[in-house]
Amino acid sequence: MVVAPFCRRLKGGSQTVKSGWVDRDAESLAAEGAASGIGRDLALRVFTTRLLGRDPKLVLHGGGNTSLKARVRDRLGEEAEALWVKSSGSDMAEIGADGFVAVRLEPMRKLRTLESIGDEDLVAIERANLIDPKAANPSVEMMLHAFLPHKFIDHTHATAVLSLIDQPDGEKKCEEVFGRRLGFVPYVMPGFGLAKKAIEAFERGKPSDGLVLGRHGIVTFGDTAREAYERMIAMVALAEDFIARHRKAAAVAALPHNIAGEALVAPIVRGACSEKNATLEGAWRRLVLEFRGGEAVRNFVNAKDLRRVSQLGVITPDHTIRTKNWPLVVPAPERGKLTDFARATRERAGQFATRYHAYFAQHNKRTGGIKNELDPLPRVVLVPGLGLFGLGRSKQDAVIAADIAEAWAEGVSDAEAIGRFETISEADVFDCEYWPLEQAKLGRRKELPLAGQVAAVTGAGGAIGAATARTFAAAGAEVVLLDVNLSAAREQAAAISATALPVECDVTDAGSVTTAFDKIAAAFGGVDIVVSNAGAAWQGRIGEVDEDILHKSFELNFYGHQRVAQAAVQIMLAQGTGGCLLFNVSKQAVNPGPNFGPYGIPKAAALALMRQYALDYGADGIRANAVNADRIRSGLLTKDMIASRSKARGLSEKDYMGGNLLGREVTAEDVAQAFLHQALELKTTADVTTVDGGNIAAAMR
Ligand SMILES: [Zn+2]
Repeated sequence: MVVAPFCRRLKGGSQTVKSGWVDRDAESLAAEGAASGIGRDLALRVFTTRLLGRDPKLVLHGGGNTSLKARVRDRLGEEAEALWVKSSGSDMAEIGADGFVAVRLEPMRKLRTLESIGDEDLVAIERANLIDPKAANPSVEMMLHAFLPHKFIDHTHATAVLSLIDQPDGEKKCEEVFGRRLGFVPYVMPGFGLAKKAIEAFERGKPSDGLVLGRHGIVTFGDTAREAYERMIAMVALAEDFIARHRKAAAVAALPHNIAGEALVAPIVRGACSEKNATLEGAWRRLVLEFRGGEAVRNFVNAKDLRRVSQLGVITPDHTIRTKNWPLVVPAPERGKLTDFARATRERAGQFATRYHAYFAQHNKRTGGIKNELDPLPRVVLVPGLGLFGLGRSKQDAVIAADIAEAWAEGVSDAEAIGRFETISEADVFDCEYWPLEQAKLGRRKELPLAGQVAAVTGAGGAIGAATARTFAAAGAEVVLLDVNLSAAREQAAAISATALPVECDVTDAGSVTTAFDKIAAAFGGVDIVVSNAGAAWQGRIGEVDEDILHKSFELNFYGHQRVAQAAVQIMLAQGTGGCLLFNVSKQAVNPGPNFGPYGIPKAAALALMRQYALDYGADGIRANAVNADRIRSGLLTKDMIASRSKARGLSEKDYMGGNLLGREVTAEDVAQAFLHQALELKTTADVTTVDGGNIAAAMR
C-alpha cells in the first residue's frame, strides 16, 4: 500500500475517474487499524483519503483534505466530540492515521459567531483545542470541516471540476451539471471566511452531496467514508462527462519541424531562469528542472492561442505557491538556431522577472507593505514544439511544479474547450501566494550551500567518487553518479536519495560521455559541478613499458578527464552561469613513484589540463581545480595491496596508512571534503589541494 509520491505521474487526458473502493482492501485496513487501536471510522477515513490522494485527477501534492467527526478520549480519559482532520502539508496518497489531528469540535464551532479572525489567533485557538497537544497543525481548510455538520467530508481540487467552474458563468454551468446535488460558494480566500460562506451556502440550499467552491474546488460529504468518497467520484465523473460532450478542438500553431531536444534546450532555459546573487559575486540562485513532453502537454504548448491562454492564471489558488500565477513561455527551439532561442529566452525571462517584481510591489503596497518578496524566477516554462519544464530549488520541488503544471494545462485547455477559462484575480492570487499559512506548507527549510545546483561525479561507484557524491548531496546538490559499472553507481545512488541519478558512463568512449551528459541535462536541466574522478593505475618501468599500456592509461587518466570536462563545459556555456570542474589528479601528478610512469604521466597531463581549463574559461565564470590525494583505501588501493605493501616495508597496516607527516590515515571522505571546499570557494581557480596527511616530496611548489 506504499506509493512513493515521487513516482506518481499524471494519467493520459482521456482517462476518467473511477471509484477505487474495494471491500477487501477497506476491510484489511480496518483490521490493521483495529490491531493497533485505531477505530474503524478513522481507518476507513485513511483508506478513502489515500484513494483520493493517489489519483492525480483529484489531488496533487497536498492540494486537498478530508475529515471525520467522532468521539474520542482525551488525555484525562474523558470523552469529547472531535474533528479528525488532515494535518497541514501531509500527503494524502501516503497518509496514515497519524496524518490526522483531532481537535475538540464544540469550541471550533463556537467561532462561527465571529465576523472574522486573524490567522495567528485562529491557529492559536486550534492548537489550544488539540486532543494531543503535540500534534501537527491542522489543514488550513479545517474550519470548513468543523462548520459543516457531516460525519465524513472530502475536499479536492479535481481538475475536471475546475475546468467547469473556472468560467465567467461557472455557477450556471454547475447548476446544469450537478443540479441540486451540489451547492455553490462564490470565491473567497481559503480559511475562516470560506468556512463561513460554505456553511451558509449549505444551510441555504441543503444540497444532498456537497458544495462547489467557486474557482477553488469541490467538497462532498456523507455518513460513511465510502459515501463521501463515491459522491466525489460521481461528481467529478459528471464534470468529465460534460467536458467530453461539449469540447471543441483548439487550433494548432504553425511550428518549425526540426525542434531541438530537451537535452539541448534545458540548459538554456535553466540558465535564463537563474538569478545572480546581488551580494556575493560569482554566486547564482539556480533551479533544477523536470521535463514533461507527453502528448497532452505537447498539444497544450502547441496551441495557436498559447500566449493568451497561458497567462490567465492558476486553476486553483494553492497552486500559486508551487507554480506562481503564470508560466514563462519561450519560442519554439529550432535545431541549428539555438543562439536565437537563447537570446529570446533570456529576454523573456527578464520580462517575467520585471512583471513579477511589479506584481509584488503593487499588491504588497495594497496589503500594508509587510511581505518579503519571493524570488522572481519562473517555476513553469512552456516550450512550444517540445513540452514543459517544472522548476524548483530541488528536484523534488521541480517534480511537484511539473505535476501541477500538467494538471493546470489540462484544466485550462478543457476550460477553453467548453467555454472561456477565467480564474481568480491577481490580488486574490497574491493573497494566497503570500498567505503565511500557505507558505508554511512549504516548510521553513534551511537552505543548504549547494541548493539548486547539480553535481556530477565520475567513477562514483568507487570509494572516493561515492564519498564525493554523498558529500555534495548532503550539501544540498542534486547528484549524478557516473560509472562504467552501472550497478555500482545504482547501489551508491540508492543509498543517497530518491533523486540521486545513476548513469552508465565509460569515460574512455566519447559517445558514452556525450550520451551521459545528455541524460544529465535532460534529467536536471544541466550541470554546475563536475568531479572528474574516474581513474585506474597501470605500472611499468617507463623505458621498457609496452606502449599499449601507456595508451590505455592515457585514454582513462587523461582523455577521460578531457572528454568529461569538454561535455560539461558545453552545458555550462549554454547555461551561462559559470560552473566548476574538479579533477582527481592524485599525488602521482607531482610526485612520481618508481615504475608508476604509466599512471603518473597522464595524471601530470591532467593537472596541466585543469590549468588550461582555468585559463580558457575563467572569463565565463567556470573554475577548474584539482585534488592531489594519496594512499586512500579504494579500488586503486585494495585491502590486499595494503597488506602486502605494509608487510614489504615492515610496517603495521595502520602505520603504513598513516605514513605521512601528520601520522593520520587519509580517507575518501577527506578527499570528498576537499572537493566540496573547492566547489564552494568562488574566488579560487587553477588550485591544487593536497590531501595526503603531509608528504613533503609531493608538496606543491
Ligand atoms: Zn482547497
